[in-house]
Parts: sequence; C-alpha cells; structure tokens
Amino acid sequence: MPKNETKTREELSRKLLNKLSATDKKPNQVFSLARLPLFHFFHRLWHIIFIIPILPFVSGFHFILILRRIFSSKPVFRTENCYGKKGNLITVKYFNTSTFSNLALFYYVVSGKLNLIGYSMNTQREIGDAFIYDYAPGAINLWYIRSASRTAYEGIKETDKEFVSNLLLKAELNPSLISFIRLVKAEFLLFIRFLVARAFRSLQKVKYLPHLIDPIFLFNTRLRNVSMQQTLEQIKNTINNRDYLSSTPTRRKIYFVNPDCFNKTFAQANADYRKILTESSPSDWIFADGIGINIAVDMLGYPKNENINGTDLLPRLVELAAENNFSLFLLGAREGIADKMKESLTSTYPELNIKGVQHGYFNWETESAGIVERINALKVDILLVAFGAPYQERWLEKWFPHLNCSIAIGVGGLFDFYSGRIKRAPRWLRDIGLEWVYRLLMEPRRMFHRYIIGNPLFLSRVKHIQKTAAWLTSKIKKASKKHDLQIIDFSQLGIIKERHTALVDIFPLMADFCVQRQIPVCLLADSEADARKCNRNLSLIFPELMFLPKMPAEKNIFCLIISSSLNNPEMEILKTENYHAICLIDKRFISEFKQITILD
Ligand code: UDP
Repeated sequence: MPKNETKTREELSRKLLNKLSATDKKPNQVFSLARLPLFHFFHRLWHIIFIIPILPFVSGFHFILILRRIFSSKPVFRTENCYGKKGNLITVKYFNTSTFSNLALFYYVVSGKLNLIGYSMNTQREIGDAFIYDYAPGAINLWYIRSASRTAYEGIKETDKEFVSNLLLKAELNPSLISFIRLVKAEFLLFIRFLVARAFRSLQKVKYLPHLIDPIFLFNTRLRNVSMQQTLEQIKNTINNRDYLSSTPTRRKIYFVNPDCFNKTFAQANADYRKILTESSPSDWIFADGIGINIAVDMLGYPKNENINGTDLLPRLVELAAENNFSLFLLGAREGIADKMKESLTSTYPELNIKGVQHGYFNWETESAGIVERINALKVDILLVAFGAPYQERWLEKWFPHLNCSIAIGVGGLFDFYSGRIKRAPRWLRDIGLEWVYRLLMEPRRMFHRYIIGNPLFLSRVKHIQKTAAWLTSKIKKASKKHDLQIIDFSQLGIIKERHTALVDIFPLMADFCVQRQIPVCLLADSEADARKCNRNLSLIFPELMFLPKMPAEKNIFCLIISSSLNNPEMEILKTENYHAICLIDKRFISEFKQITILD
C-alpha cells in the first residue's frame, strides 16, 4: 500500500475516532456507519452462517423448556432491557435457566436486533455514555469476556469504544475484501475467547449472592474486593488524608497474593508468612491476583470483583502519582533494574517524581536500617518493594513501623516487567486469564513448579475447603435430626487448622445449604450493636437466608447459631434450656461480617 494512502487512512481514522468521542458528549448526534451496505450485508451474512449450526441446538433447548413449562410453573423466558442500535432501548428475552440462558439471544441475531459479536449489551450504561451507533450490540462482546476474567478495568464505555474502533471502524474505513477477512478473523478469535470466558463463568457455584462485597475470604485471609478505580481512589485518599489529618495518620501496607503465595503458606518454614496474611490488620490491604484465585472464590461462592494485581495497578498508580504529585521510591530487583524502570516510567510520565531507587540484593539484616533512613529522609509517599513473596512481606512487617511513607506495596517481580527485562503477556491472553501460560513459556524452568505443580495443588486445597463445608453441612444435617444442642468450637477443629481455612471462607456454601434446607441462622455477638450490624449486613448479602434477630422463643425450631465466644451469656441459656440447635463458636466471623461493605 502506498505510504501516502496509509497516511490518509490514518488521518481519516483519527478524524472518525474524534467524531466518535464527540458523540459521547452529544447523545442525539448519531454517527452513522451504515453507508457501506454491501460490507454490512456480508458482515451480517457471516454472523448468520456462523450460527446456523447452533440454531437446532437452541431450538431443541427451547423445546425442552416449553415441555418444562407444561409440567411446572417456570416461565420459558425472562426479559431484560439493553441499548440497541442508535442507543434505543430494546427488550430481549433470555431462557429462564441458570445455565445457557444466553442461548435465546441467537434468535435476535437472526432477526437483526443483535449482532453475534458486537459491543456490550449492558443496561447500566447511561444514555449520555452510550455508544450511540448505527450498529447492534453483540450477544458476544469484549465486556463479557473481560468481566469473566475480571480484567475489565477500563469500564463498559471504554471497552466498547476499544472494540468498535479496533475492529469495526478499522474495517469500515477500508471496506475491502482483505479488511473484511481480517474482521471475520478478529471476530472469530473473539468468539474463541468468549468460549474460554464462558467456561470460567460456569465454574461459579453459588448463584444467589446478588451483591459484590468487600472484603471476601480465602484460606482465612481477608481479601479486598474493590475495583481498580476504587483502589486508586482509596490510595489517593490515604495519601491525602495523611497530609491533612496528620494527627490520625492512616498508613497502609498493600500485598498481593496468588495461588503460589497461598501454596507457600502451607510450608512449615513460612508459618510467619501465613500469620502475616491471616492476621493482617484491616488498615492493610491484601489483593488477590490471578485466575486461580477467581476460580477458588467462585468455588466457595464469593463473587469476585476486578482482578487487582501489581502489574495492572502500576501504570494507573503512576498516572495517579504524576497527576497528584505523589512521590515514589523503588526498592528491589537486580542491580540496574529499578534504574531502568525509573527511566522508562519518567520518559512516559515526565512529571513523575521518583525520588530514589535501590536494588534488592543488599544484606537485609545489616543494611536495612540504613536504607530505611534514606527512604525516610526523602519523604516519599509510595514505596514499592520488589523482593518477591514472602520476602517483601517479611521485610515490610519488620520495617514498615520505622518507615514514614503513606503506602508501601509488595510488588514481586514487577520491576522486571516495567524495566523491560521480562515481557508481559499480550492483552488478549490476559483477557481470558491465561497470562500464566505466557509466563510459563517465557521462563519454563522457574515457572514449572509454580504453575504446573502449583496450580493443581492450589485447586486441590480449595477443593478441601469445599469438602470442609460439606463435612460441616453433614454435621448440621445430623444435628437437625437429634433434639439437643451441639456445640462446635471452630478454633479447636483439627480439620480446619490442617486445611488453613475458617468459617468466613466457607460461609457462602453453608448459607446456600441453610437456604435450601430452610434452616434459620442466629448470631450471638459480644454486644447487641455488633449482632445488629452483622445481621443487617448478612441479610443484605444473603437475602434468601432466614436470620433470627434473637434466640428463637420456640425451642423446637432447629437453627444454626454462630457465637463469637463460648463465654457468651446466652450460651448458658442455650445449654440449660437444651435448645434444638447446632452452635458454631468462631471469634472472627461476626467481627468480619459486621464491617463488610456491599459494593453495588
Ligand atoms: N529479588 C530481590 N532480592 C532478593 C531476591 C529477589 O530484589 O534477594 C527480586 C528479584 O530480582 C525479582 C523479584 O525479587 O525482581 C522476585 O520476582 P518473582 O517473579 O520471583 O516474584 P513474584 O512476582 O513471583 O512474587
């Protein structure tokens, strides 16, 4: 292609993209791309040809649902609204099932209301934000794929824009056969990514939890569950509050955990690391990173928000720091790596203030005090520590009280990525949660144990947690048959200690069981106020679960009691009056759930 022509196209593309952004501000101004009828005709044709083999399956499924409708009162469809062509609100029907409900959308692809692959069908988007476009949304879309791997950090609007500008617009600017083939190929690859995303989504076990909550729990560790945007806002607030309210400074350590980190906590030599994670103060934050964790919390019934990891956080954190004049110090990695990272970051963000760097191969016993003094003298806001887990966590536990920075983050091998020493997986691979495959290919020797042995081991350990929940529910089932009071002290249970789990980890599974069996739950907290707060939160999180605000007057109703201690005064009443109940003693459960935040 002649150079001039490329340039003209680039200019045209830039103009169109600008015009497209302008439509966000003027919702009524519709940017019509329907001026390429032949191109559009073939584009639609390929979608229809693609779904023809699927349609008999859809109709078969539909037929079974109609039969079910005859024998039960369950309707065949449920309806939802979304924004269609030109931002008009449209109503679409889904099959009224827990799985394969989206199959009904294929009918709309045939009718033209939807595309097979397109921008998102989200209903939450405001009209001003809508991608007002003369093109239907897609039953399969990038937003869905990224949400499944919890990597849709950019939000719906930006994700839609990315899809439209990278795929559709590029092709429509140049409606030739080659660009059509490229578009079909890109859409086909998106379809494959959708299948992987769909497989991850289907692992979700407890489906009735309607809200995202923060925190969630895994291996007795409190994991923050906020979005990328919320994380950045809270980091900003931490640093700013510290400036203005210095009498009550909040300083935070931030750690990331992945399946490998949890595997490490099972080694006797890392008992201290395990303690750091399980006994972390609520002012410190632990974020869970990786598809392994997404699968694990899905298996345990906790809905997971975005995947917050050091590598995705860093560019956004650096942008935040540059905008707000927050200073940084880079500590860790091999000699020269932190310098390279500084160079590369400051070339992208010239206003960024990286006050100092220090490699991580110093004597941690003898030289740490001097390095801490140096960091303190520089008065930095954010300290990044890159020694790898659990070394950075150990170092920070020891030295954070002596540091004066607002935020210290343990970032593992992050400097190696941002200095360019190791390449990061491409976005499409990260979108489907397979970044680890790329890392394995890049460093097979080092990563073999971590991923090939570590991932299945981690999942088997999560499976053990599920089994613990099953063991407990079988205890509850047995107890419900005997008319007496059974008390189980969680802190004394060998099975719980051995599996590094806790009641907070398995509660969604237990709650699911109690909903199905209609077993009410009653909380005995240290104070009435605690019980009230906890009850309120739990009834929002588990709306189908029955909570008794007080001990049941009717002693014959079997219930599950959770008490914060064996010495609770009401425990005596329970024992003397011989209640028909199973009572779990757990000191952490109520204190955690009383503070939980419901995010949506
Ligand atoms: N590292 C260090 N000092 C040490 C040992 C390791 O600074 O004594 C650095 C190492 O150069 C690497 C990082 O710590 O940059 C660990 O990277 P890894 O990928 O193992 O960490 P992960 O992200 O997996 O926790």
